[in-house]
Amino acid sequence: MPENLVRLKERLARLKRLSEVSELLGWDQQTYMPEGAAASRGEQSAVLSQLIHDTFVSSETADVLGAAEQEIAGADPDSDDVRMLAVVRRDFDRETRVPSDLVAELSRHQAVAHSIWVRARKENDFASFAPALEKMLDLTRRRAEALGYTEHIYDALLEGYEPSLKRSEVAAMFAGIKPALVEMTRAIGASARPVDASLLHRSYPTEVQKSLTLKLAEEFGFDLKRGRQDEAAHPFCSGFNRDDVRLTTRLDPNYLGQGLYATLHETGHGLYEQGFTVEYDPTPLGTAASLGVHESQSRLWENMVGRSRNYCVHLFPQLQAAFPGALGNETTESFYRAVNRVEPSLIRVEADEVTYNLHIMLRFELECELLTGELKVSDLPEAWNTRMQAYFGITPPTDSEGVLQDVHWSAGLIGYFPTYSLGNVMSGQLWHAVRRAHPDLEEQIRRGQFAQLLEWLRANVHRYGRKYSPATLIEKATGEPINSRYYLEYLTAKFSEIYGL
Ligand code: ZN
Repeated sequence: MPENLVRLKERLARLKRLSEVSELLGWDQQTYMPEGAAASRGEQSAVLSQLIHDTFVSSETADVLGAAEQEIAGADPDSDDVRMLAVVRRDFDRETRVPSDLVAELSRHQAVAHSIWVRARKENDFASFAPALEKMLDLTRRRAEALGYTEHIYDALLEGYEPSLKRSEVAAMFAGIKPALVEMTRAIGASARPVDASLLHRSYPTEVQKSLTLKLAEEFGFDLKRGRQDEAAHPFCSGFNRDDVRLTTRLDPNYLGQGLYATLHETGHGLYEQGFTVEYDPTPLGTAASLGVHESQSRLWENMVGRSRNYCVHLFPQLQAAFPGALGNETTESFYRAVNRVEPSLIRVEADEVTYNLHIMLRFELECELLTGELKVSDLPEAWNTRMQAYFGITPPTDSEGVLQDVHWSAGLIGYFPTYSLGNVMSGQLWHAVRRAHPDLEEQIRRGQFAQLLEWLRANVHRYGRKYSPATLIEKATGEPINSRYYLEYLTAKFSEIYGL
């Protein structure tokens, strides 16, 4: 093997292991770490991040990367090595384009803005957060200019989460589905067949939920020899590498929907992480293609599978046996309807399948306007509320339940929101493709068999890790460019039936 490529791979392997350690510290922080360790953990994480960053952007990396690129010039453009070098080049250029004093200023301001936001949300005081947001936007604009873009300043930021996706493509996708979603939301609100979800709000002992959700994750195909599940205040999935994937869930003794669907969602993320090709570990290809692709996996298992009538046929008897007091007199059908209740609501993270994307579109539109200066920070709460009224027919009574609800902008995560909806759209497209490949798939799910679904996802999505861009990956898997047609068809068919539209 070419000598510089070998040296580069060794260097990248060390960096990958270091970042796994760093993620492990983060996982521990959100699960078991005693509160008193917060300050020392912050320092540990900072030391590691600095070490990883400095090693990666060093002149040694630049030299060996350049030499390796020359060594493989002319090789098969689809080979793993060529694809890996393209990924490393892209990361290297992104990390070195932003001046280090701006990186430091951003990271300092993130800490400050975050604590100001926490207080502002608690006290419903947008005005106290506004100057911190102004400064965050200013620093973000400077960062985007340093990163560079051809069409729109937003593209430079989006690229960090969703490689090669453009703002214009997101806008076109949203324009295609927004009218239908707004109309569906309105029609559901006026439906003569409302859904009663009260059965989910009964007594569900958490110890029982804990063992049951773990069993459901395992049933989907999550390998407990290479992963585990714990509890955390905000459920997440940490995949250090394919052999160590940590799910978290949050169990509420009076609400079954929380823990159950948090587990199914995070299991979707976890299955993806466990499915990367073994030879990609530890290389930069042994990670996710993008946030959107990651979310397509969680949404597919949570919604297309977990909230389907066929899965409920399999699941409900198990729930009834585990919680006879709460569900003894209920039916599969009442459970199916309850977990698919649609209601326009103020809070994004509690939103159902139909209204969720409207929350994302609203944020995407506003952050684009804020970045270009079309919208002033001082006018943001009003713009938020106007759009809430237009899309959902409701106006937040307070800014805490409106413009102040999400952590993202205070943390400098601007350009991140569209990846949630993109994941939904991709999940609809993949769901369509896998059922075309296996016409009896839903029958299998009804019997509690998930192996063929997982095998298809492994072969068409998981194993490639970061080898292909999201657009290429989805087109290879489904035979079509990313498009929202199947997702919209899925929503329309499902909710028209439930609500008798
Ligand atoms: Zn997720």
